[in-house]
Amino acid sequence: MSTRIGFGVDSHRLEAARRLVIGGVEIEHDYGLIGHSDADVLIHAVIDAVLGAAGLGDIGQHFPDTDERYRDADSFVLLAATGEIVYSAGFGIVNIDSTVCCEQPKLAPHRDAMRLRIATALAIDADAVNVKFTTGEEIGFVGRGEGIAAFAIALLS
Ligand code: MG
Repeated sequence: MSTRIGFGVDSHRLEAARRLVIGGVEIEHDYGLIGHSDADVLIHAVIDAVLGAAGLGDIGQHFPDTDERYRDADSFVLLAATGEIVYSAGFGIVNIDSTVCCEQPKLAPHRDAMRLRIATALAIDADAVNVKFTTGEEIGFVGRGEGIAAFAIALLS
């Protein structure tokens, strides 16, 4: 079995009175992420990791933020479309690992729901998706609560 690894990173700004959607899960919070789509920072990082492993470009190439079709897009749908792209190209997904860098709110209670949502979008087992969390220790844009960042890697066969 030949395998290929891919990496993805994303960040979005937090603003009051926006929905907070991370890993396909809507989380109750006073602040949410700003973006052309639903700004799901974790799913965006996962999409770039999966596309990267397949050598098929990046999220901006497949789902451009200049395209009105993707305004307020549900990133879960974009992730499912990404799965179709790489499966059509003959790849399978072995596993995905990820880290969300977020000061507030605490995301750990949502970990299993995020794993399941990502796995469902990609039609893989939840066991093949890991989601980790870290804070910014009150420094940098994450630590000051100005935004949330996410990193992901994907292994494809
Ligand atoms: Mg993004």
